[in-house]
Amino acid sequence: MQIFLHNTLTKATDEFVPITPGKVGLYVCGPTVYARAHVGNLRSYIFGDTLRRVLQANDLSVTEVMNITDVGHLVGDGDEGVDKLQMSADKASKTAWDIAAEYTRLFVDDIRRVNIETPHVMPKATDHIAEQIALIEAMEAKGFTYATHDGIYFDTAKLPEYGQLSGQKSEEKEAGARVGVNAEKRNLSDFALWKFSPEGEQRHMEWESPWGKGFPGWHLECSAMSEKYLGVPFDIHTGGVDHIAVHHENEIAQTLAARGVMEANYWLHNEFVLIDNGKMSKSLGNVYSLDDLQAKEISPLAFRYFILGAHYRTQLNFTWEGAEAAQNALNNLVDMVRDWQKPSSVDSGVMETFMTAVNNDLDTPAALAIMWNFVNNGAIGTDVKAATVLKMDEVFGLALEDVVARPVRVSDEAQKLLKERELARIAKDWERSDLLRDELFGLGYAVQDSSSGQKLRERR
Ligand code: AMP
Ligand code: ZN
Repeated sequence: MQIFLHNTLTKATDEFVPITPGKVGLYVCGPTVYARAHVGNLRSYIFGDTLRRVLQANDLSVTEVMNITDVGHLVGDGDEGVDKLQMSADKASKTAWDIAAEYTRLFVDDIRRVNIETPHVMPKATDHIAEQIALIEAMEAKGFTYATHDGIYFDTAKLPEYGQLSGQKSEEKEAGARVGVNAEKRNLSDFALWKFSPEGEQRHMEWESPWGKGFPGWHLECSAMSEKYLGVPFDIHTGGVDHIAVHHENEIAQTLAARGVMEANYWLHNEFVLIDNGKMSKSLGNVYSLDDLQAKEISPLAFRYFILGAHYRTQLNFTWEGAEAAQNALNNLVDMVRDWQKPSSVDSGVMETFMTAVNNDLDTPAALAIMWNFVNNGAIGTDVKAATVLKMDEVFGLALEDVVARPVRVSDEAQKLLKERELARIAKDWERSDLLRDELFGLGYAVQDSSSGQKLRERR
């Protein structure tokens, strides 16, 4: 089956053809581990994971690399300001190394909770300093670099292809106007490859280099590590749309200058998550993590369902109502599949329609609609539904394998509470009934009251 992907590089939805038949090298631009991942960041990784799952569903063998940025990403994304890791460390009176370890652990936990398949390699920037220095040396040998008082820079005017991803010419780039920009920079779009440690200051993270003690520029790690683990060119590079104009443009420039080839053939970018139609910001208190969602009874898997409900290239407005609707939809699906018979054979007709949708630039909203139509079709046996929905879930990643044809098993303790609650309700003791509902909730069950009595579901 053909797969079509919207390539930012060609600005068209092209047929995807892997470099090596049957295999795909995928690089998902990873987190800067200085703070907890928010719902916007998570969209980016769920998108990368969905892409991987779609490729795998097409019988392609995917090698996925996701970098961990633990040094060099400066506040403001430019070449000025402090390192985000160092900033976070100073605030918490810890070292940048501690901050990196803490947020890497939280990140790995977060992506597991939203059922993202673990990338095959998760290389850290700080573990690849030698590779990054070697890459600067290759650029230097070809005349693409120059030194200023605070570091080694890439001269974008030397690369005629510069700007092909964003379509911006080097001189059109704004680096926060000119204010505060290193006056020794030859062009506005030039960027740091190596930054020197400030005079008289010892950074938590710094290394010796042929140019002086310091640390690598943010974009360098991705060129160096993607080459090490996937080779160049590799197949697909992903990230959020904010990376098009600077981070990915600069990655392409580095690899092109050093090796004379494109870093990757396909560049895919997810649009942003908005909160109540606006920007997320710490000052507005709307930078939500998975824990914030869970505090409002939105599970990580329901959040994943919410993300799948929008196409990755459209902005997605996060509202609590929208998240609750996703949780309800997932609950309904889980309730339904639990009562099904054991999976038998897959309905190949509907699977073909489904694959055509996801192969059309990951049209997950259409794929969800196809699934709902199918599961609501009373003419189809639940054994076939079970097998088919499990196959679809290889793409959705909603962990349905844990619930298909598995009725809720109620523990003895929960059974007892449920009985007590029934008596409380007969006695119209609503206070006690609510209390027991909370206790059941604590045990991992949600109670629903209906005309036919109480119904328990495991919280997912
Ligand atoms: P960072 O850790 O800042 O490097 O960001 C990690 C990923 O999240 C990058 O691919 C960003 O493009 C992406 N990202 C950041 N903010 C948002 C947002 N509000 N919506 C969607 N993606 C985002
Ligand atoms: Zn990157």
